[in-house]
Amino acid sequence: MPDPGTICVVASFALFEMAVGVIISFLVRQSDEQRLGQEREDEAKLSDAIKQLDERCYGDERCSAADECSICLGRYEADDKVRRLKCGHEYHSECIEQWARCKGLDAACPLCTRPLFPPRTCAPPIVSSQSAPAITML
Ligand SMILES: [Zn+2]
Ligand SMILES: [Zn+2]
Repeated sequence: MPDPGTICVVASFALFEMAVGVIISFLVRQSDEQRLGQEREDEAKLSDAIKQLDERCYGDERCSAADECSICLGRYEADDKVRRLKCGHEYHSECIEQWARCKGLDAACPLCTRPLFPPRTCAPPIVSSQSAPAITML
C-alpha cells in the first residue's frame, strides 16, 4: 500500500507532465498555424493570379491555340479549357494551373520563360502621382 505522500507526488508530477504537454502542443499548433496561414496566403495569391489568365474553350473562334499543349503534349479536344498567358502562349487550363502551383508565383511560361504573373511588388500600387500626401504610420 503506497503512502498518501507518494500518491500525491506522483499525481502532481502527472499533472505537471500534462500541463507541459498542453503548453508544448499549443506552441506547436501556433507555429503550425502561422506556417499554414502563410501557405494559405500564397495559395490564395496564386489562385487569384491564375484566375487573371484568360480562359477560353478550345474551338471558340477567339481561341488561337495551337493543336497541342506543350505541357502535356496532348492534342486539344473540342471544349477543352485553354488558358492564354500574357506572352500569348496557350495551354490546357489544368496543365498551366498545375505548372503554376508547382512553380509558385515565380512561374514562367514553359515555352518562352516569360513570367506568368506580374512581378510581386512590396509597395502598394501608386494610385496618383506626386501630389499624393505621404502616408504617416500610426
Ligand atoms: Zn495540357
Ligand atoms: Zn510564352
